[in-house]
Amino acid sequence: MIQRDRLIQTFLELVQLDSESKSERPVADYTAAKLRALGYEVKEDHANAQTGGNAGNIIAYKPGNTEGKTVMFCSHMDTVPPGCGVKPIVEGDIIRTDGTTVLGGDDKAGIAAILEAATAIEENHMAHGPIQVVFTISEEIGLLGAKYIDLEGFPKTDAAFLFDSEGMPSEICVASPYHIDITATFKGKAAHAGLEPEKGINAIVMASKAVAAMTLGRLDEESCANIGMIEGGRATNIVTPEATIFGEARSLKKERVDEIINDMVRCCNEAAEEMNGTVEIKIEESYSAVDLSPEDATVQLGCRAARRIGLEPKLVKSGGGTDANVFCGNGIPAANVGVGMCKIHSVEEYLEIPAMKAAADFVLAVVEEARA
Ligand SMILES: [Zn+2]
Repeated sequence: MIQRDRLIQTFLELVQLDSESKSERPVADYTAAKLRALGYEVKEDHANAQTGGNAGNIIAYKPGNTEGKTVMFCSHMDTVPPGCGVKPIVEGDIIRTDGTTVLGGDDKAGIAAILEAATAIEENHMAHGPIQVVFTISEEIGLLGAKYIDLEGFPKTDAAFLFDSEGMPSEICVASPYHIDITATFKGKAAHAGLEPEKGINAIVMASKAVAAMTLGRLDEESCANIGMIEGGRATNIVTPEATIFGEARSLKKERVDEIINDMVRCCNEAAEEMNGTVEIKIEESYSAVDLSPEDATVQLGCRAARRIGLEPKLVKSGGGTDANVFCGNGIPAANVGVGMCKIHSVEEYLEIPAMKAAADFVLAVVEEARA
């Protein structure tokens, strides 16, 4: 039912539409038109009012022609730079770039697979329950489209699948950590470093003491912490009055990630106190965890769909975040599965066509398995 050549053609068209984050308009228009032509009710939301982009999320819905669970299929429309002027090259079973841009298989492979499956469902008059399709904006700059998505008016989703990972769709991600960002700005006192250094309070030293006191790196099997940036100072002859550190903590468990952040905060406060300076700390939950159990309806459905297309399901964990984290945080049970993307976020990115084809087959299998 899935037509490999048409799938490849759709993918090639998609990657040649420039859509770096906040500039998703061409892909939003392309996907909305395709879904409308397939009889979907299509809405573009106003998430871009929050992100400053030129298009909103595309949310599409088709009621079932038979009873069944409501399933959702998602991909993101934006790419990382350099993502403009992509010249895809098909070589046997892979599609690569000419080496000057990313390919954008992350995540247009997912969009192409979903559109091909939606086309196959229509032309084969397949029996299906309610289907939702969601193409998000600005995933690459902080999962923003998913964060600001407006699903008002659409039915509750029973199981959601994202196609935003390497490997085959039978690789089902059931765990991905909470992520909290921490920013600490240390304030000391400026003074001439040569004439009267004793009158100054060095904010860089304060920040260093705080970082040195922190436990960073891998903390346990499912938790880690990092300080990734430091900023401050203007000249070597000034005792630095202000310095900022930027860090993060991740863990599968909410209590654990809070505990790690609290410890980082304690280190900052103690360093500031020790040096008679001050510190302003900002903590922001970046996204929540994916923590699906093997008994969960989404996981069960995904496993059955994988077996239906002859693949042995594999439940995997990831250290990174995707739109699935945001959806899970909002009560939509979402699992991220493989769609054949490789070496993403680099100009060496390429796509494995058989995995993208398997992802399209997987969509059909999910639809078949979701029927009552
Ligand atoms: Zn992606």
